[in-house]
Amino acid sequence: MNHERSSILFQQAKSVIPGGVNSPVRAFKSVGADPLFIKKASGCTVSDEDGNTFIDYVGSWGPMIVGHCHPDVISAVQETMSSGASFGAPTERETVLANMVIDAVPSIEMVRMVSSGTEATMSAIRLARGYTGRDKIIKFSGCYHGHADSLLVKAGSGAATFGVPDSPGVPADVAKLTLTAEYNSLDSVRKLVAENGNSIACIIVEPVAGNMGTVPPREGFLEGLREICTNEGIVLIFDEVMSGFRVAYGGVQELYGVTPDMTTLGKIIGGGLPVGAFGGKREIMEKLSPSGGIYQAGTLSGNPLAMSAGIATLNILKQPGFYKKLEEKSLAVGEGIAKAAKAAGYPIYSTRVGSMFCAFFCNGEVHDWPTASLCDTKAFSKYFLAMLDEGIYLAPSQFETGFVSAAHSDADIERTIAAAAKCFKLIA
Ligand SMILES: *Cc1c(COP(=O)(O)O)cnc(C)c1O
Repeated sequence: MNHERSSILFQQAKSVIPGGVNSPVRAFKSVGADPLFIKKASGCTVSDEDGNTFIDYVGSWGPMIVGHCHPDVISAVQETMSSGASFGAPTERETVLANMVIDAVPSIEMVRMVSSGTEATMSAIRLARGYTGRDKIIKFSGCYHGHADSLLVKAGSGAATFGVPDSPGVPADVAKLTLTAEYNSLDSVRKLVAENGNSIACIIVEPVAGNMGTVPPREGFLEGLREICTNEGIVLIFDEVMSGFRVAYGGVQELYGVTPDMTTLGKIIGGGLPVGAFGGKREIMEKLSPSGGIYQAGTLSGNPLAMSAGIATLNILKQPGFYKKLEEKSLAVGEGIAKAAKAAGYPIYSTRVGSMFCAFFCNGEVHDWPTASLCDTKAFSKYFLAMLDEGIYLAPSQFETGFVSAAHSDADIERTIAAAAKCFKLIA
């Protein structure tokens, strides 16, 4: 497969953009290759600058659940664009999307729009701190919540891929307020809570972890967090930037029946445009400026184009049977890949929640960051590059989640599984 033009474009980009990319995992660094420069996408495929077309399981890292270039989303954005891209004044669309989010997500009574997932989690934490009058927060090793200072501690995603969980530039005085527990371990949480008295403002968690590969919560884990937070007056934040509107219309909290105090959203609710949101109990949200004193703002927050793309996307997701069909497709992908590995005699640990899936390159069960980090990332890189050669575009890291979209057809899925069978044999 020819990647000549992508390589030239990457060289050009590297001289003006650090590492040639505007977000680290895009660089393909951990799989030892140059990134593909994408020219266009349609449905479940992306096409690069050399004219190669791939079946896409990255989906822009989550947002493209209805597939690329869905006609409803295109026409909504085009129509909005022709009446103005941004006003810096309220528009009716913001209330429309707010109501859709409130109707969908059990914990959200009020919501504020921002422009990225990072902004959503950062703002949610400020609000939790302001509301409780406490400074410390608990996060989980391997969970990624964007790149704000207080959250770039033992983080997953790019931070896990590059082995720099604690980034230079994050002041030690800020990082020390972030306590880190082990995912799926209530004991590790109880210990931190006991040691830190009444100084913990919030626990933030990916209720299905998706930034150390896909790691589902064990039975009782989310319920246990709920109980600890209720007893200790700690704000429970579900970071559903990835899982919101992904594993179910109401996110993990609908699927598992556990309701946090606050929720952060992003990715899907922007339909591919830059969006984030955070919401929760009215009592907490009303503390936010200008109704309360806790400050948060954004020039492009609630941007008309992003609101339109989000509303159009959610309208598609709301159609009866959408998630049932997506579940069937995702089951076929997850099981197909697991079977292909088994047939090739290559051991993987396969996980999936709805349309989020992962093949961990390891023998044992993966349930937290220490077990995820045992994976054979070298073997993953070989598999990744072989799959790419077969026309399958996976996330270029072991510690990411694969996303199935409504646009993946049975034929696309069959082709994917056949490619996986070939690639596992190659590395076995
Ligand atoms: C992607 C992601 C974020 C960060 O969102 P950005 O839009 O990249 O800033 C935060 N939390 C989770 C769980 C994510 O998957």
